[in-house]
Amino acid sequence: MVRFIVEVFAVARFRAMELITILNRCHRFRGFVYHRARFSPDHKSIEVSVRPRKGSAAICSRCHQPAPGYDQLAERRFEFIPLWGFFVLLLYAMRRVDCRRCQAVVVEEVPWADGKRTLTKAYMLFLARWARRLSWKETAEAFRTSWEKVFDAVEHVVTFGLEHRVLGQIDAIGVDEIQYAKGHKYLTLVYQIDLGITRLLWVGKERTIESFQGFFHVIGEEIASKIVFVCSDMWEPYLKVIREKCSEALHILDRFHIVAKMNKALDEVRAGESRRMALEGRTPVLKKSRWLLLKREANLKTEQRFRLRDLLRYNLKTVRAYLLKEAFQQLWDYNSPAWAGKFLDEWCRQVMRSRIEPMKKIARSLREHRDLILNYFHAQKLLSSGVVEGLNNKAKVTMRKSYGFRTFRTLELALYHSLGKLPEPESTHDFF
Ligand SMILES: [Zn+2]
Repeated sequence: MVRFIVEVFAVARFRAMELITILNRCHRFRGFVYHRARFSPDHKSIEVSVRPRKGSAAICSRCHQPAPGYDQLAERRFEFIPLWGFFVLLLYAMRRVDCRRCQAVVVEEVPWADGKRTLTKAYMLFLARWARRLSWKETAEAFRTSWEKVFDAVEHVVTFGLEHRVLGQIDAIGVDEIQYAKGHKYLTLVYQIDLGITRLLWVGKERTIESFQGFFHVIGEEIASKIVFVCSDMWEPYLKVIREKCSEALHILDRFHIVAKMNKALDEVRAGESRRMALEGRTPVLKKSRWLLLKREANLKTEQRFRLRDLLRYNLKTVRAYLLKEAFQQLWDYNSPAWAGKFLDEWCRQVMRSRIEPMKKIARSLREHRDLILNYFHAQKLLSSGVVEGLNNKAKVTMRKSYGFRTFRTLELALYHSLGKLPEPESTHDFF
């Protein structure tokens, strides 16, 4: 019996030692030692106590310099990456220093955590990486933690990334508005769309002049003055800020945004006409035609294509609007700005005679911004037009993934996290 107990103790000690060996290999810090590892009373977690190495001074968290000790606080628990289905906690009693430089009693800085949070930096980086692949909710479930902790982890990683990113030279930017939440809440997103690098540079609340100006405030005048291309939609506050801040840049109305506007107008025509037909008791030929009309014909299935052909035989406003929209697509095939301009003028003339008000509204707006649209052809060989659209789609997917907590802060973090290409905090080990 006695021998048995001795053996059990030996095994327990041996395992604890092994764990400390592993921790020393992957998560070791100067000035601190792993002292002891043991199971918690409920056997769900492994608790590893950490101590300061003898003779090593604590670091003041304000000035980041060693300072004489003052006292020690109660033991805190820091969550580390779970191991083999056990939670792993680092237990450490923070010291306070009497810092002469700061002339205050300050809590020490520890290398594995960032002061306020209970998650270790290693675990935050680990969770944040998963939160890029899974939704935040799924990440929380997979690692048996809370949504709030995943939020903390992403916030930590994004904050680091924004502080350490290098903006460098920016040749081209695209500004995009995106709707979130119900009602009319918008975000302004600014992307870098250089040939070599595309990334999200900035997220602003609302889509006002002030919100877009916030971007220029962040990048500074030097970088702003060197921007060569700006892509945007026809949203007047954006146009105004671009005229003001990037007066030297070639400003292009983005193809994707124009197509989106045209689809919206067409949809308006269809909805109005469909309602009218229902009121007049006519055959509801427009029923379920929405996607037939909005999708590119090439993307329709065979059966849908037949239905579309059928629909196009009717003499309807919707059909005429559809044909005008389709005809407009030809614009993008031109290489020469002059020919594109001629086509655009002719198209607008036809539309103005069409007596279809939503389409006429588009034509008026295109006429008004003719120069900016033709800039697309001046810049054609230097900018790929699908970039803003691609980023816009990714942004929408990201927003869906953080669904449930659609506050501005959540969306801002989620967007920077998945589209910002931000540098990550350094890690002692690659915890894959
Ligand atoms: Zn200090």
